[in-house]
Amino acid sequence: MIEQLRLLVKLQTVDKTAYELEQELGRIPARLAELDQIEQSLHSEQNIVQAELDQAAKIRKELERRAEELRARQRKAESRLMGAKAQKEYQAATAEIDEAKDSIKETDDLLIEAMERHEALAAKAGALGEKLAAAVAGAEEERANLAQRKAHLEGQIQQLQGQRKTMTCGIDAQLLSEYDFIRPRRQGVAVAPVSGGSCGVCHMNMPPQQYNELQRMDKIMRCSSCQRLVYWADSDQFNDL
Ligand SMILES: [Zn+2]
Repeated sequence: MIEQLRLLVKLQTVDKTAYELEQELGRIPARLAELDQIEQSLHSEQNIVQAELDQAAKIRKELERRAEELRARQRKAESRLMGAKAQKEYQAATAEIDEAKDSIKETDDLLIEAMERHEALAAKAGALGEKLAAAVAGAEEERANLAQRKAHLEGQIQQLQGQRKTMTCGIDAQLLSEYDFIRPRRQGVAVAPVSGGSCGVCHMNMPPQQYNELQRMDKIMRCSSCQRLVYWADSDQFNDL
């Protein structure tokens, strides 16, 4: 029985390492998806800002065109005023000049606002572009690292699986299937050392009678709290493990 327990404890060391590596491996796809998500959301944000920037540029250009047109109209009216021969013609030109001046002022005010908005959006788009470029570069680097890490983990896991195969040969089939049943349900740890009367994994104290039985080491026992297979770790039999 002791030999069986010793084999299980050794197997546990290999399995626990493999379990932790598998957990890490299992988290890689989620991190990759997260990186895609970060990039995508920055891209969408950039598209929105770019659309706003295009619109602001269009408005600014239109206002500049209008301001130019109004100034041309004013200059024409001024030259008509210079050449006016009749009172009526003079009055009409004056009225047109006044009207053009009012419109120019109105347009210039709008143009200042439009220029400010356009410049602010251009700055925002620039900052976002830099942020996106940095995120893309960072994501690329992390993806490469993750791919490398994945290959490394897979290799290590495969190696541990090979070791496991050799180690399980000497273990009783019934005991091994019990162990394999518990393992995935208990965070990859199916065997717990009991030292000083308490379970080394869940830390519950073992009832004294059970603890006495455990010290006899003549049967396989379980922790009544966490249900893991237990062994008396204070025994000399497990000193070297
Ligand atoms: Zn326990």
